[in-house]
Amino acid sequence: MRDLSAGPRVLLKRLRELMAEPLEPQERLDRIVRQIASNMVAEVCSVYVLRSDGVLELYATEGLNKDAVHLAQLKMGQGLVGTIAASAQSLNLSDAQAHPAFRYLPETGEEIYHSFLGVPILRAGRSLGVLVVQNKAQRNYREDELEALETTAMVLAEMIATGELKKITRPGLELDLTRAVTIEGDSYGEGIGLGYVVLHEPRIVVTNLLNEDSEKEIRRLADALGSLRISIDDMLSRREVAMEGEHREVLETYRMFAHDQGWVRRMEEAIHNGLTAEAAVEKVQSDTKARMIRLTDPYLRERMHDFDDLANRLLRQLTGFSSRSASEGFPSDAIILARAMGAAELLDYPRSHIRGLVLEEGAVTSHVVIVARAMGIPVVGQAAGAVALAENGDPVIIDGDDGKVHVRPMADLQKAYEEKVKLRARRQEQFRALRDVEPLTKDGKRILLQMNAGLLVDLPQLAASGAEGIGLFRTELQFMISSTMPKAEEQENFYRSVLRQADGRPVTFRTLDIGGDKVVSYFRSQEEENPALGWRAIRLSLDRPGLLRTQLRALLKASAGAELKMMLPMVTEVSEIRAVRELMQKEVQHLSKFGHQLPKRLQFGVMLEVPALLWQLEELMEEVDFVSVGSNDLFQFSMAVDRGNARVADRFDVLGRSFLRILRDIVRAADKAGTPLTLCGEMAGKPLSAMALLGLGFRSISMSATSIGPIKAMLLALDVDRLSKLLDGALDDHRTHLPVRDILTGFAEDNNIPL
Ligand code: PEP
Ligand code: MG
Repeated sequence: MRDLSAGPRVLLKRLRELMAEPLEPQERLDRIVRQIASNMVAEVCSVYVLRSDGVLELYATEGLNKDAVHLAQLKMGQGLVGTIAASAQSLNLSDAQAHPAFRYLPETGEEIYHSFLGVPILRAGRSLGVLVVQNKAQRNYREDELEALETTAMVLAEMIATGELKKITRPGLELDLTRAVTIEGDSYGEGIGLGYVVLHEPRIVVTNLLNEDSEKEIRRLADALGSLRISIDDMLSRREVAMEGEHREVLETYRMFAHDQGWVRRMEEAIHNGLTAEAAVEKVQSDTKARMIRLTDPYLRERMHDFDDLANRLLRQLTGFSSRSASEGFPSDAIILARAMGAAELLDYPRSHIRGLVLEEGAVTSHVVIVARAMGIPVVGQAAGAVALAENGDPVIIDGDDGKVHVRPMADLQKAYEEKVKLRARRQEQFRALRDVEPLTKDGKRILLQMNAGLLVDLPQLAASGAEGIGLFRTELQFMISSTMPKAEEQENFYRSVLRQADGRPVTFRTLDIGGDKVVSYFRSQEEENPALGWRAIRLSLDRPGLLRTQLRALLKASAGAELKMMLPMVTEVSEIRAVRELMQKEVQHLSKFGHQLPKRLQFGVMLEVPALLWQLEELMEEVDFVSVGSNDLFQFSMAVDRGNARVADRFDVLGRSFLRILRDIVRAADKAGTPLTLCGEMAGKPLSAMALLGLGFRSISMSATSIGPIKAMLLALDVDRLSKLLDGALDDHRTHLPVRDILTGFAEDNNIPL
C-alpha cells in the first residue's frame, strides 16, 4: 500500500487547521481553494455548489477571474463541471478542451488551461457540488492527488450539509440541499402530518475526517470489521433466524459483503490517503452509492441497500454511535423516514411525538403499517429515495391521503397544509364534544357504536372516542407483529390486558383470521394461486385444531368470571360453526375439570363474509348468539373484486343496489329470528354508507375509532324512518337507474346531515 506523498499529506494537515479556525464561510472557502492550488501546484482551484434550481454556481476560485465568483454558472449535466455533478464521478483530463462536454465560460477566462481534475462533492451518494483543479500545461494528475482532492471534497460536503454556506447564498438561489422536493408514494394510512424529519437509521455524521496516523486507523478498521463479522455470524446462528428464509438470505449477503476484499481494500486505500477509518467507510459508501444509485435492476438495487446497511453498521461500530443518543432531542412532531422498519421498532418511539411514517418500501399489509394505522399515524409507503433526499431535522409534510411527502416544503404549500390541519383539528374538537352524547337518531332510535381494534395501542381510543365497546377485535394482529408464534400464556395475558383496559366495555374477539393477505411469517403455508379463496381463517383453524384450541382456552381463561364474546371469521357453512362449538365444549370441560373459573356468559357469534351463508340465513340466525357482517370480504366475494387490487376494488359501489339488497336481506333475516346483528367492515366508518346501513335497519355498527365522532354527528341529525322509506323505494324500483349513492347524498343535503 502506498501512502500519500508529502504534498497531499501536508494539504490535509493544513485543511484540518483551516476547518478549526473561526472564519466567515466565504473566507474559509477562499483559503481552502488557495491552499489546494498551492499544494497541488495548480494554477486554478475552484468550487462549484449546486443550487436548488439545478444550477452549479462558482462559489470560490483561485486562479480564475475573481469577479466571476457567484456569477459564473453551469446547468447540471452542462460542461465538464455539470457532467461531474450529474454523473457523480471524477474526471481526470490532460486536455480538457478536447473533451466533448467542454464548455468555455468567457467570464472566467479559463481557455488557457489544459489539464483538468474535477471531483464531485458527495453526500449520501448525492452531488452537492464540484471541486476542480486546473493547470496550463498538459499533465495527468496522479492517483494520490485525485484521492486527496476527493478527501477535500468530503470536507466541503460537510460544510455544505451543516448549512455553513447558507450565509453566502443569495435570496431565491438557495443551495440544492435546501430544495423543496415532493416524493410520490402510496397512501398506506390516512391523515396529514407536519413536522420534522427523523431518520430511523440516522446518517452517522463523521466529523473527524482526517487522520493523524494511518496505521492506527487501519487497525481500528480491522477491529471494527472483526466485530461486525462476528455480530453477523451471531445473528445467523440464532435459531429463529435460521428458520426464516428471507431474513437469512439478507444476512448471508451481509456476510458475503463483510468479507469482500475489494471493499476492504478501497477503505484501506482511503485511510492511507489521509482519512480516519470512519471517514474512509463513509467515502467508499458514498462512492459506491453514487455509482449504484442509477441502477434500475431491482435485484442490484436491493444489494445496494444491503451494502449501505452494512456500511452503516460498520460506521456505528467505529463511532460507538447508538440509537439511544439519537433519541435525545427527539422532536415533539417527528415524521419518521425509514427504508423499512419492524413493527416493534415503531413501538419503541414515543407515540405522542410521531406525526407520520414514511417508508421507502413496505406494503399496506406489512406489520409496521398495520401498527401505525392502529395508532392513527399517517403512513406513506413506496416513497422511493426519501431517506437519501432528507436530512434529520428538515421540515416535512406527510400527506397520507394522497400518498405524498413534501420535504422542505415551500412556504405557500406549508401554509395550505397548516390550514388543512387546523380545519381537521377543529372538526375533531367538534367530534370530541359529542363523545358523551347518547347516539340517538333524530327520531329516537338508539344506535350502538363500537370500534375495531387489534393491538393494545388501540385501547386508549376506547375512552377517547366514546365507543361503547370493541365490535371487532382482530386477534391475528398479535400474531402478525410477533416474530414467533405467541405461546398460550402470552395469548391469555394479552386478552386479559385487553379486557382490563376495556374496563367493563364489551369486547368481541374474533378468532384467528390468518391466511389470505394476512401473512404470518412463521406460519408459512404453501403458495396458493388464490389466497383470498384459500386456506385461511376458520378453515385453517379447523385443520389445525391445536392452534384453535389454544386460542379458545386463552380466551376462556382471560374472561374468567366475566362475559366472553367471540366470533368466527370466514364461515362458509353452518356445519363449521358446530365443529368449533364442539372444540369449545371440550375446552370448557377441560377447564372445569381442572377447577378453572369459567366466563360468566359466553356469546358465540359468526362473521358473515362468504355469500354461501346468504342461503343459510335461517339456520345461521338460529345457530348463533349474534352475527357480524364483514362487509369488506362480503363485498369482495359477492362482487368478485379483489379488495387489495386498486384496479378493481373501487369498480363497483358498496352503495350499489345489489350489495344493499344483500344487506337488507340479512337485516330482515336477523330481525325475524331476533338475532343481534352488527356490521364491522369499512363502510360502517364512512358517514354516507353508515347512514345507508341505518336506513337498511342496522342498529349496531363497528368502525375505526377515528370514525366514531363523524358517524355520531351524522346520526344525531338523521330521521331513520324517513330514510328507510326512501331507501326501500329506491331498492324496490326496478326501473330507475339513478344511483343510490346520489339518492342518499341528496337526502343528506336536503336534511342538513353532516357527511
Ligand atoms: C371484513 O371483512 O369486513 C372484516 C371486518 O374483516 P377483515 O377486514 O379483517 O377481513
Ligand atoms: Mg374479513
